[in-house]
Amino acid sequence: MFVSAIIPAAGFGERMGATISKQFLLLNGKPILVHTLERFQACDAVNEIIVATQRSSMQLIEEIKEKYSLSKLKSPVEGGQRRQDSVANALRCIDAQSEIVTVHDAVRPFVHMKELTQSIETAKYFGASIVAVRAKDTMKVASTDGRVEKTLNRSSLWNVQTPQTFQRSILLEAYRFAEKNNLTATDDSFLVEQIGVSPIIVEGSYDNIKITTPDDLLLAELLLKRFVP
Ligand code: C5P
Repeated sequence: MFVSAIIPAAGFGERMGATISKQFLLLNGKPILVHTLERFQACDAVNEIIVATQRSSMQLIEEIKEKYSLSKLKSPVEGGQRRQDSVANALRCIDAQSEIVTVHDAVRPFVHMKELTQSIETAKYFGASIVAVRAKDTMKVASTDGRVEKTLNRSSLWNVQTPQTFQRSILLEAYRFAEKNNLTATDDSFLVEQIGVSPIIVEGSYDNIKITTPDDLLLAELLLKRFVP
């Protein structure tokens, strides 16, 4: 089956407080985005990679493709206002023969090959899969003024990461539904859940952090030292 990877990389990374977008910050001399793209380039199950980026970074993506020999990387597409707009733009550009779409944040360079391939295999058979780890902390629901309303049962809670992988037809239908009903989501799974599909959880690793704040960048430097793809 032809598998497309969509990498949303059009965020401004305001929480990082840096002058360049967080996906282009260097980790051991190489942009975070390149570390991430190398994971997908190395995965035999992935046929093409599409990055959604800001217009001002399009040329940079072309340069990265050459410099790091990322042969699966297609021309970038322009990102949108929200993450889901960036993914939607990339979805319009995937190969006509694509049957599976895996979506992965540009700023999660520590995805293991095992998680990526399991996510793809699971989506092939069950329609949708998400990589997640068991919640370590107890989670509570609170009102806007900070009063605890209830305590959730930790044994059924998961922290959700990416990759999130879907049969193409399911993801397209979810995005059409979201547009029609004005839904906003922070992950693709939510949109797929709205059309009645229950993604299967692939248990991942705590290494697969989303580099969001300066603290995460420090942690990423440590993780890189011992990371085995
Ligand atoms: O903002 P958040 O941390 O959820 O971003 C996750 C990923 O989505 C990042 O790789 C970011 O570059 C990307 N993103 C995007 N377009 C946006 C916002 C975020 O591609 N408008």
